[in-house]
Amino acid sequence: MTDLAPTDPRQHALRRASLPDAFTYALYACSPYRGCGHGCLYCDGRAEKYYVEGDFARDIVTRPWLPDALARELTTLREWGALALGSGVTDIYQPCERSELLTRRIVEVVADMPDRTVAGGVAPLPVVVLTKSALILRDLDLWARIDARAGVLVLVSITTLDDAVRRVFEPGASPVGERLEVLRAFRAAGIATGALAMPFLPGVTDDPTSIAALLEALAGLGTTFVMPGGLTLRPGRQKECVERLLAAHYPDLVALYARLYGEDRASGSPVFGYQARLEREIRSIRHRLHLPRQVPHPLLRRLLAPHDELWVLFSQMRELYAERGVDTRRLSEASNRYGTWLKTMRTTFRRRRTLPATWLGERFGTAIETGELAQVLANDKLARFTERVARDRLVLDHETLALR
Ligand code: SF4
Repeated sequence: MTDLAPTDPRQHALRRASLPDAFTYALYACSPYRGCGHGCLYCDGRAEKYYVEGDFARDIVTRPWLPDALARELTTLREWGALALGSGVTDIYQPCERSELLTRRIVEVVADMPDRTVAGGVAPLPVVVLTKSALILRDLDLWARIDARAGVLVLVSITTLDDAVRRVFEPGASPVGERLEVLRAFRAAGIATGALAMPFLPGVTDDPTSIAALLEALAGLGTTFVMPGGLTLRPGRQKECVERLLAAHYPDLVALYARLYGEDRASGSPVFGYQARLEREIRSIRHRLHLPRQVPHPLLRRLLAPHDELWVLFSQMRELYAERGVDTRRLSEASNRYGTWLKTMRTTFRRRRTLPATWLGERFGTAIETGELAQVLANDKLARFTERVARDRLVLDHETLALR
């Protein structure tokens, strides 16, 4: 393990986005580790794109300075919005956390953050945490404290119910049963949970029976929503790693993967026909179970300020309408214009430190009242919708697509 001291004194604990992340819904992100001892063989973090040098699963970089730096940064924070702990390329509850305790210290810092008014809300920050580890249960008391003050969303990644498959593809991650127990325990504590049911592995876990069994188990636990998805294999280290695993454990599947991923797309996507079939299959199972794939609007509202909530809501609506076969081009154009407007306002706010903390939220409210936002959207229907969401505080029902 390597300790990584900040080489630049201006290095920040928090990464701030100009728009909330569409995957985690967060405005901020931070992680005390780089690399991941869970060592999932298909992990995106192995790809050259993420620049993790050395052995991804063994050469873990730690950032012991991060909890103290975070505590300092939180006292000068000016914008409210969810903080993502962990990502698709590192897990904050990976095995070294048992001894390093950096995540525990970070969660304590967030739980103890003093109340302060910042743009869009009152600190502390809500948190979205992603993990494949039951070690998160160790900190349930702290997560409950943060949830009571600001809101928490726990996203547990579960790719299969078959622990033999898990041992091959995710050797260092918690057994399947323990991950299901995490969902159960957090739900019992009244904390919102979602599941990442991805990646379904071609020829291993992507058959309709296996997909249905997993989604049924997750629905049965009362998981608020499930984000399912297929496997992407970026050409290079990530793809080679899976190819070696197949040769050793699933030699019969080598030809299938060569065909599905033979186009070597930079995104790692398989051939279109396979992807479309898998998505159709997943969608029909989800619909049968009434299992949403996106965070419900009331929960989204707990995680983001109104101006950011609207941005994520537009992107959710694009997906919801496209699923129903509706042409979403006008919605996409309006949403892009809104994104550009919001980024411009945010840049102004971040550059001009003399602006009061309430400026960004007030600027958004003024834009609605004066009709400026309606001009930005250039779409009367969407402008009326925005008023009802932002001003009247209605929420979108993802199943009926009605406001209530
Ligand atoms: S737990 Fe997540 S970050 Fe860690 S190796 Fe597995 S997929 Fe990668």
